[in-house]
Order: sequence, then C-alpha cells, then structure tokens
Amino acid sequence: MGLLSGKKGIIFGVANEKSIGWAIAQILHKEGMELAFSYAGEALESRVRPLAESLGSRIVVPCDVSDDSQIDNVFDIVKQEWGGLDVMVHSLAFAKKEELKGEFLNTTRDGFRIALEISAFSLVALAKRAAPLMEGRNGSMVTLSYYGSEKVIANYNVMGVAKAALEASVRYLAADLGPKGIRINTISAGPVKTLAAMGISGFKQILDVVEAKSPLRRNVSQEDVAKTALYLLSGLSSGVTGEIIYVDSGFNIMGF
Ligand code: NAD
Repeated sequence: MGLLSGKKGIIFGVANEKSIGWAIAQILHKEGMELAFSYAGEALESRVRPLAESLGSRIVVPCDVSDDSQIDNVFDIVKQEWGGLDVMVHSLAFAKKEELKGEFLNTTRDGFRIALEISAFSLVALAKRAAPLMEGRNGSMVTLSYYGSEKVIANYNVMGVAKAALEASVRYLAADLGPKGIRINTISAGPVKTLAAMGISGFKQILDVVEAKSPLRRNVSQEDVAKTALYLLSGLSSGVTGEIIYVDSGFNIMGF
C-alpha cells in the first residue's frame, strides 16, 4: 500500500512531460493517489490529456487561472466527483517574455499586473476554493518558487517580485488554513530546464553557475523536486506549514 492510497489530489501547471508538476504527479500516483489535472487553454489539452490518462486520471479540465469562472468550474467538478480533496499542487507562473530580459526598471504596468496575478494571486484564488474541500482531511498544498524572490538574478526581474509575493502569500495562507488542519508550503527549486524556464533570457548561464558553485556541484532534476513535494504533501511533514524548503543543491546557503 502506498503512502497516499485512497487520497485525492489536483495538479495545476502541467504543460508537458518536462514540467515540474508532471514529476510531482508521477510520484504522487506511485504512492497511490488518485489525481485530477487542469490545463491552461485548448492548445495544451492535447499534451496534458494523454499524460493524465496514462496515470488513470478521469478528471482533466481546462483552467486559465486569470478566469474565476474556470477556477470555479474545476472545483465544482472535483466536489461533484470526489466530494473532497486531500492535496493541491500549484506549479504555474507566467510573465511576458519581454519582461524577462534587460533591466527591471523597464517593467511595464501591464507586465507587472499579469506576472503578479497569474503567478501569485492565483495561489490565493485556488486555495480559497480548495480549502472547504480539504476540511477534516489533513489537506496539504504546495507551490513552487525560486531564489530570485530573495536575491537579484539577472533577467528574472518581475518574476522575482511575483515569487516574493507568492512566498508571503503562503505564510498568510498557512496562518488562515492552519486552524482548519490544512497545511501549505513552498518549494524553492533550483533551475530546471522546462518550457517556463526557457522564457528567461540567459537561463543556461544560471544552470552553469549552480553546477559550478553549489555544494552538490550539480543541478537538480524534476524528480529531486518531486520527492520533496511528496514529503510536503504526505503525513511525513505533518508538523510543517508556511515554510520554504530549498531543493537547489544547496546553492542558497553559499556566500563568497
Ligand atoms: P512549465 O512551463 O512546465 O509549467 C508552467 C505552467 O504554468 C504551465 O503548465 C502553464 O500552462 C502554466 N500556466 C501559465 N499561465 C497560466 C494560466 N494563465 N493559467 C493556468 N496555468 C498557467 O514550467 P515549470 O518550470 O515546470 O514551472 C512550474 C513552476 O515551477 C512555476 O511556478 C515556476 O516558476 C516554478 N519554478 C521553476 C523553476 C525552473 O527552473 N524551471 C525553478 C523554480 C521554480
């Protein structure tokens, strides 16, 4: 019997087989969890549906997190099909490509709004709908962040600000959800070659620096991140909430 047998979870943020969300889905499935998936827009359905079906998932629904009616629809379906929920994975972010290069000083009003809304507010919007379904079930939520929330990383720009807002949101949500027995934590992952990462100008350089300078002298894989997600989404982390756990080969601890 798996660690998560009989449990039900929903994953937001799978785009393809390289997505961190997909690695998390696979490890949760391996431990016995039944999963639901959302995809952002019709173009991604043909990628996400076969992946979801390969894990036996019956619930595969569209959800662009900028649209409240689509978010409502996802949770209505989950409630109807399952009656409750144990786990939610928020593994999504977006900023316009032109905001992820050059000076942060040039961030536009619209670029700032979009990055913060899709990458940070979406967690609040999803958590608000997930929480009532998790009460009495020791629910757990996880989101994905990056070190650019704390330190200046060239070209990460407005996404660093969005990740700072995301991490702060996790703390406030943890305080609200804790009394209901629901936990929420952040994984701060090292750089991983995915679709989203390829939008960041000079991303290869970030990978090279982590490989050269991190204590483990390597980059992390999607699976490294997924294993920590399993810890945070299972009873193994029953006393942990509101935290940021780094899965970055130790890069964040280094000074000169
Ligand atoms: P990915 O491109 O595979 O996943 C990003 C997901 O965001 C996609 O599934 C995309 O459809 C979704 N998304 C974008 N706009 C959306 C919208 N409006 N509505 C709903 N979904 C939307 O890339 P990934 O690297 O797996 O990213 C997952 C998470 O991990 C992101 O939060 C990212 O910032 C974070 N992260 C990534 C890295 C990295 O180096 N890859 C490092 C640290 C943190």
